[in-house]
Amino acid sequence: EIFKETFEKGHEQVVFCSDPAAGLKAIIAIHSTVLGPALGGLRMWNYKSEEEALTDVLRLSRSMTYKNAAMGLGLGGGKAVIIGDPHRDKTPELFRAFGRFVESLGGRYITAEDVGTCEEDMNYIAQETYHVVGLTGKSGNPSPVTAYGVFLGIKAAVEWVFGSDDLKGKKVALQGLGHVGMEVARLLTESGAEVTAADIYPDRVKEAQEILGAKIVEPEKIYEVPCDIFSPCALGAIINENTIDRLACKIVAGAANNQLKDENFARRLMDRGILYAPDYIINGGGVINVAEELSGMPYSIERVFRKLSVIPARLKEVFALSRSEGITTAEAADRVTEKRFEKVVA
Ligand code: NAD
Repeated sequence: EIFKETFEKGHEQVVFCSDPAAGLKAIIAIHSTVLGPALGGLRMWNYKSEEEALTDVLRLSRSMTYKNAAMGLGLGGGKAVIIGDPHRDKTPELFRAFGRFVESLGGRYITAEDVGTCEEDMNYIAQETYHVVGLTGKSGNPSPVTAYGVFLGIKAAVEWVFGSDDLKGKKVALQGLGHVGMEVARLLTESGAEVTAADIYPDRVKEAQEILGAKIVEPEKIYEVPCDIFSPCALGAIINENTIDRLACKIVAGAANNQLKDENFARRLMDRGILYAPDYIINGGGVINVAEELSGMPYSIERVFRKLSVIPARLKEVFALSRSEGITTAEAADRVTEKRFEKVVA
């Protein structure tokens, strides 16, 4: 069963890591090292089953290959998961044990933060291996950089649809006021856009209302807000059978990973005349930021911000291919990106 999946989706290596003394159950999936070492974060999640963890790590590692290639990073794609509750089961020993497994791969896999892990956890991993990024005193928290990339991506989409990237008076419905979403909301507001937002946490909502003057709606209502741009910055799979017909926007562009429940929803958005900015391109700022640690040069936020121009450039290429070939922007993104590995293999 596992080989059926890895053969179909092209994974190179899947490593099951077990260290009973440290309480570690982890899976590292290396999808591709064609363009370079496989970079991708470590997720810690209370998976209901081992199968669910495996499915997640296989899916996430493959999307890292696409994201890293699309950003032109010269890196392959990988991802790791620790099965456990991030609020209860974290110990220094757990992350050091994980670090030893990363080290055993000799640099084929490079880890970083993801959902459920943070800078402090990376610092423990760094006690056992060099193959970890997102460390304190180096690139640190990627969220502000991700947010700026999303902002540039929104402007590229607005320019494509409206003929100018001016955000003044543009209406945005933004879902999720977390590390990335709040910063996207701030950048949009400062550019003159009118932001309506939703979050399930009252303190996030209060901050957006008081500091940004954002309008707030109940989480379930955000899909129906009449707007120019719907910006998903919370969870994945939010474009699905229950939400698609309620969207009242011209553009979907936001930070969340895996926004479409499946590929069919890209076609349904296109049929409704909604431009979709493919998630793994618009949210690639975070990976550009951590990859900067691999350059060997001292970390420079200015250099990282300059590199973010790849995001609007790649999106415009994708929008143009989608229009000329009559394919969805999701298919166009995969085509543009796959060309990059084909060039290397050929
Ligand atoms: P976060 O956990 O800080 O923020 C998510 C926010 O969404 C939280 O405030 C949460 O309360 C809210 N939320 C959850 N369910 C919601 C719902 N149903 N309706 C409204 N709000 C809801 O996470 P983040 O780091 O800001 O990341 C946001 C998304 O962007 C995630 O999908 C993440 O995978 C993706 N992403 C993040 C980065 C990064 O640099 N942090 C990089 C690439 C992609």
